[in-house]
Amino acid sequence: MKKRYLIYFTIILTFIILLIFYKKSNNKELESSIIYNKILNYSITKNLEEFSINKNFQENSAEDYFFRGLKSYYNNDFLQAKELLRHAELKNSKDSILKLYLNFFINNCIYKLNGNGDPQRVRFIIENIDKYPILANDVNFIWENFSTILSTKKDRNTAIYLLEKYIKNSINILPANRLKLKGYVAIFKMMNKNYAESIYLFYEIISEAESIKDINLKNSIRIKAYEYIGNMHFILHDYETAIEKYNLAIDIPIENQYENASSKYGAYTNRTASYIQLKKYSTAREYSKKTLEIIPFLPDKIVDGVKIFVYNNLARIEIYQDHLKKAKQYLEQCEELLYQNKNNGILNNDIFVELSYCELYIAEKNYLQAEKLLENILIENNTNQLGFENEIYSLQMELYGKTKEFDKYSIAHEKLIHVNREFDFQIKKDYLKFIEKSFIADQLKEQEKISSLKIRILIYSILIIITFILFQITRISRLKKNNFIDQLTNSYNRKYLNKILENLDKKNSKSIELGVLMLDIDYFKKYNDNYGHIQGDYVIKSVANILNSSIERGDCVIRYGGEEFLIILKNKNSLNLKNTYMKIFRKLEEKNITHEFSLVSNHITLSVGGTKNTVKNSNDLSKLINDADSALYQSKNEGRNRFSLFKNHS
Ligand code: GH3
Ligand code: MG
Ligand code: MG
Repeated sequence: MKKRYLIYFTIILTFIILLIFYKKSNNKELESSIIYNKILNYSITKNLEEFSINKNFQENSAEDYFFRGLKSYYNNDFLQAKELLRHAELKNSKDSILKLYLNFFINNCIYKLNGNGDPQRVRFIIENIDKYPILANDVNFIWENFSTILSTKKDRNTAIYLLEKYIKNSINILPANRLKLKGYVAIFKMMNKNYAESIYLFYEIISEAESIKDINLKNSIRIKAYEYIGNMHFILHDYETAIEKYNLAIDIPIENQYENASSKYGAYTNRTASYIQLKKYSTAREYSKKTLEIIPFLPDKIVDGVKIFVYNNLARIEIYQDHLKKAKQYLEQCEELLYQNKNNGILNNDIFVELSYCELYIAEKNYLQAEKLLENILIENNTNQLGFENEIYSLQMELYGKTKEFDKYSIAHEKLIHVNREFDFQIKKDYLKFIEKSFIADQLKEQEKISSLKIRILIYSILIIITFILFQITRISRLKKNNFIDQLTNSYNRKYLNKILENLDKKNSKSIELGVLMLDIDYFKKYNDNYGHIQGDYVIKSVANILNSSIERGDCVIRYGGEEFLIILKNKNSLNLKNTYMKIFRKLEEKNITHEFSLVSNHITLSVGGTKNTVKNSNDLSKLINDADSALYQSKNEGRNRFSLFKNHS
C-alpha cells in the first residue's frame, strides 16, 4: 500500500528544542521595562497570582488593561483577552515595548480563536524587535510569532519574505541564531513543497554551522538540519536516503542526554517510519525500542506527543504483521495519551492514530467502522486543510477493494490520481524554479568570489538526486495511470504484455530478434504454507527486484502470474540466454532467501525455460512464450532449480 506520511507535521513546535543561550546585553530600555520584566518573570515562575497584581498602574490605563488582558490570556480566555488588549492598544500612545507586546498577544489571541494569525501584526513585531538585542536573539519568541501564520501558503510566503529580510538586515542577531532562523525559512519552504530550495538551505546551514564554537549548539543545529533533509527524502518516497540522513543526525554526538534526546527524537521516530515504509518490520520494531530509550530525557511538553508517535508506529508494524490484538493495545495507549493531553506539542498526531485505526479495522474486516472513520477523517482533513488526502484515498481504495464496491473504489482511485498529479506537478515546478535560482546564485557567488567547491558539489548532487526522483516519479506514475504496473512488484503486468503484442501488429514492423525467459519459483506453495502469505509476497518482490536488476536496456520483466515471471529480451547482451540465466541464478544464490521446505535446495530457487527467435508479429511472440513455457515445464520435470532451452521436437 502506498503511503505518504507528511512528516513535516511533526515539526510544528519543535522550537521547544532550540533553547537559546545568549549573553545578556546592555539593552537599557528593555531591561528597565516593567512590561518586559513581568512577562519574563512570569515565563520563569509561571506564578499567575503574582503576575496579575497591578498595584502600580492607574485603573483603566493602557498598562492596567494590558495586564488584565494577559491574565485572561494565561487563563485561556482568549476572547476576553483580545477585548482587553484592544482597549490597551487604544489607550497606549507612547510605550513602544508595550506596543510590541500588544501586537504579539493580540495576534496570538486571533490565532487561538481563528486558527490563523494576522500577518500585519507579525510584520510589525519582526520589523521592530531588532531595536532590542535581547528580543532580536530570542528565536523562540520569533518562532512563536511566525507559527501563527503558517496555515496557508500565502501567509507562509509572507513569513519567508519577512524572515529573510530580517536575517539579512538585523544588526543584533548572533551567528548561531541567524542559522536557526534560516532553518525556519527552510522549514516554511518545505511546507510550501519547495523541497529543492529547502534541502539546499539546510545544506548551507550544515556547512555554515561549522564555524560555531559551542560544540553542542553546532551539533544540535546540524542534527536538526539532517533530520529535515531526511524528512524531505521521505516525502519524496526515497526512504533509503531518508534513513541515511536520519542516521547521520543520530550519529552526531551530544553529551548531555537531555539535549541529545530533544535534538534527535524526530530523527528517531521518522527513521522507524521509513523502515515501516520499506516493510522492514523487525528493524522498525528494534528502532522503536531505541526511541523509547530516549523518551525519559525529553521535555515534559513533548514527551507524550513523541510516545504517541512511537506507539502508533508499533501499532502499524503489528497490523502489517497480522498481530491485530497487539496493534489494538498500542492504539489504545495512543488514545489514552491523546485524551490526557490534548496539547501534546505535536500537531495532528490524532489523525495519524485514527488512520492506523482504519488500517486495523480493515485488517479485522470491520469494514463498516473503517468506512465511517475514514469519512470523518476526510471531513476533518478538508475543513482544516491537513494534507492527508493521499493516506485517506489509499485506505479507501484498500477498503473498497476488499468490500468489492467497485464504484466507490474507482472514485477513490480517481481522487488519488488527482492528488498525486498535483504533487508531481508541484515538484516539477519546484525543481525548475530551483535550477533557475541556483544558476543565478552561482553566478553571483562567482562574482563575489565566495563560491566554495563544497557547496557546488552539493548543488550538483542534489540536482542529480532530484532529477532521478522526478524521473522515477513521473515514469512510475505514468505507467500506473495506464495500469501497466503490477502493484506488488513494480514490474510490468499482463496488461502490458497485451500492449506489446498489440503494438507488434500495429507497426507493420520489421522482424527483430527477441529472447523470452519464463521463470517460476520452486515449491512456492510450500513456502506460503509454512512462512505465511505476507512473507511470500516479500519473496515475490525480492525475486522481481533481482530479475529487474539482471536485465539490460530494452529488456522488460513482466509478472505473468502469481509467482511466475516472463522476461522479454531485446538487448544483444541479454540474448545469450544461458548467460542471462546465470546472472539471475548467482544473484539469487547471493540473496539466499531461506526456504527450508523446498525439496531441491535450502533457499528460494527458480525453474526457468527460454527460447529466442526472430519475431515479426504478435503470433510469433505468442509462440515464443508458449515454447519458453514448455521449456520451463521441462526444467520442472528434470528436477527444478535449472534452465532449459526450448528444443523443437516437431
Ligand atoms: P512448483 O515448484 O511446481 O512451481 O511448485 P509451486 O508450489 O510453486 O507450484 P505453483 O507454481 O503451481 O504454485 C504457485 C503458488 O504461488 C500458489 C499460490 O499459493 C502462490 N501464489 C500465487 N500468487 C501469489 C501471491 O501474489 N502472493 C503469494 N504470497 N503467493 C502467491
Ligand atoms: Mg512455482
Ligand atoms: Mg506457478
